[in-house]
Amino acid sequence: MSDFQVTQIRKDFPVLQQEVNGKPLVYFDNGATAQKPEVVIRCMDELYRTQYAPIHRSVNWLSDQMTTRYENARETVRKHLDAYSTNEIIFTNGTTSSINLLAASFGRVFIRPGDEIILSVMEHHSNIVPWQMVRDQYGAVLKIIPISDEGELDMEAYEGLLNEKTRIVAVSHVSNTLGTVNPVKEIVRLAHEADVPVLLDGAQAIPHQRADVTDLDCDFYAFSGHKVYGPTGIGVLYGKEKWLEKLPPWQGGGEMINRVTFEKTTFNELPFKFEAGTMPFTEAVGLATALDYVNGLGLNRIIAYEEELVDYGMRALSALEQVKIFGRATQKVPVFSFLVGDIHQYDTGMVLDKLGIAVRTGSHCTMPLMDRLGITGTVRASLSFYNTTDEIDVLVTGLKQVIQMFS
Ligand code: PLP
Repeated sequence: MSDFQVTQIRKDFPVLQQEVNGKPLVYFDNGATAQKPEVVIRCMDELYRTQYAPIHRSVNWLSDQMTTRYENARETVRKHLDAYSTNEIIFTNGTTSSINLLAASFGRVFIRPGDEIILSVMEHHSNIVPWQMVRDQYGAVLKIIPISDEGELDMEAYEGLLNEKTRIVAVSHVSNTLGTVNPVKEIVRLAHEADVPVLLDGAQAIPHQRADVTDLDCDFYAFSGHKVYGPTGIGVLYGKEKWLEKLPPWQGGGEMINRVTFEKTTFNELPFKFEAGTMPFTEAVGLATALDYVNGLGLNRIIAYEEELVDYGMRALSALEQVKIFGRATQKVPVFSFLVGDIHQYDTGMVLDKLGIAVRTGSHCTMPLMDRLGITGTVRASLSFYNTTDEIDVLVTGLKQVIQMFS
């Protein structure tokens, strides 16, 4: 057993201290959004009370303070990702806007009719639809990496898809529905052999895994603040400087410019060329505080503890004969997608809610994956380091009640 002090750590999260329907809240919807520790809540409160002012544009003292905190937040993100330079850290509104930014900008310069974009069948809609828009605009073709029944990428098929027409590979680091940790280092290595850049959708990896962009050697990495215990409305697009230099801005507006006349606009330098308008600057500082919190707990300790949750959860759910689990990859985070007999996922979710257990039901924004699995949706219990094996036991007891009710 790991030495992770989960009872103590849970006290950092005020929302976990309450009851729902007369039962202690079991929050198993972390894949959708994670709860916030007291330090992040206090940070946001303090910023609004004492430091709130527009960044970059004003000469006053307060603005200067806030600008410094915003740029320090960028440095915290850089360190967390082990990126080379803060020029490579672009703040966005979240993973969705990070991928839309990249797809729109990359498409304009690098995608021509007949070019190919490689995605995988397990992608979130956020890493499908922006590329479909690019495909439709420039006449490109999407190529899809298939998966095994266990929910692992077919790497041989992937290798077969890479060719001289491939312009970019865009895959998730971790699947939000299956919990699979993809072999992203190998994906990047193979793509680079074919001279193709890689975007990793890190939305589900960032709370569970190390996202070391230098080690992974990925060209782009996208994630959201709210899934890693930070505020909503903030996200990051990491891009290697050599790529970002070549990409045109996505949105136009204040701060991303150098000089504007009606005839012509010249753009600001990196990373500001991609940060148009008033940025979510308090949220950026909140995100940095969340990353500091996670690093304070220790990523290695989090990973070790979550591996215990994966083992325990897979064993506990597999012991229920009527439960069918989707996603049995060897490398997996504590995300459990399942169906109970032929009971509709919404019914299971509703009964669990009455028992104080918050799960997600539906397609989890992965409809093509649902088509591949031949189902319309699942129940998803997505856990965090503040969840416990006792809570998994509560889920199992709840599922037994579901089975009894519907039998
Ligand atoms: N990619 C993956 C794998 C996700 O799980 C999610 C959200 O669930 C997203 C992208 C989109 O994230 P956001 O809604 O924060 O932009």
